[in-house]
Amino acid sequence: MNIILFGPPGAGKGTQAKRLEAEFGYKQLSTGDMLREQIAKGTELGLKAKEVMDRGELVSDDIVIGMIRSYIECGTCQKGAIFDGFPRTVAQAEALDKMLSECNLQIDYVIELDVEDASLIERIMKRAAEEGRGDDTAEAFKTRLALYRDYSANVLPYYKYKGLHALVDGAQSMDEVTASLMDVLGLKKVRQA
Ligand code: ADP
Repeated sequence: MNIILFGPPGAGKGTQAKRLEAEFGYKQLSTGDMLREQIAKGTELGLKAKEVMDRGELVSDDIVIGMIRSYIECGTCQKGAIFDGFPRTVAQAEALDKMLSECNLQIDYVIELDVEDASLIERIMKRAAEEGRGDDTAEAFKTRLALYRDYSANVLPYYKYKGLHALVDGAQSMDEVTASLMDVLGLKKVRQA
């Protein structure tokens, strides 16, 4: 099963993807984490991406599609993947479909985490204090949110048309969001006695 977690910055995609990975074995594929890894390693790609990310803008389609391509190897991810922060443009969504279909795979669910702007700003400011991410400044966040609302949200009709879209209230507690996601995905928690 391949899942896309979709939603504005601060919606909780990364948190939830990590939980589903730990509990059910789906591989989290976060383009944001991949880019931050390149920055940490000080690669040429990382240096280029950092400037763009710190402004809150989008890294080029070619770069992120290339990174995702290197992870989608036919047959390597048995359980499936959770795409987190990708695709963010229609071009990325089309490229993802193509890469998956070459392995006879497909996207099964696109779950949108819905959170209102005021709560997002609150969460990002809290994360800024805790983690000090370069793009969690008020200015960069404004750009990230505007880009999401004006641009990335346009990816949703692409999946709605295919009948894959589901909406989850991302303003609930972390556990409630996880439970809602599991409901949509038809997953049951396995607890050892
Ligand atoms: P958030 O969802 O909180 O914005 P991410 O870690 O997903 O955090 O992304 C951080 C930044 O990384 C984005 O603002 C953007 O600059 C870059 N980025 C991540 N994924 C993509 C993508 N699919 N396409 C373009 N840029 C991306």
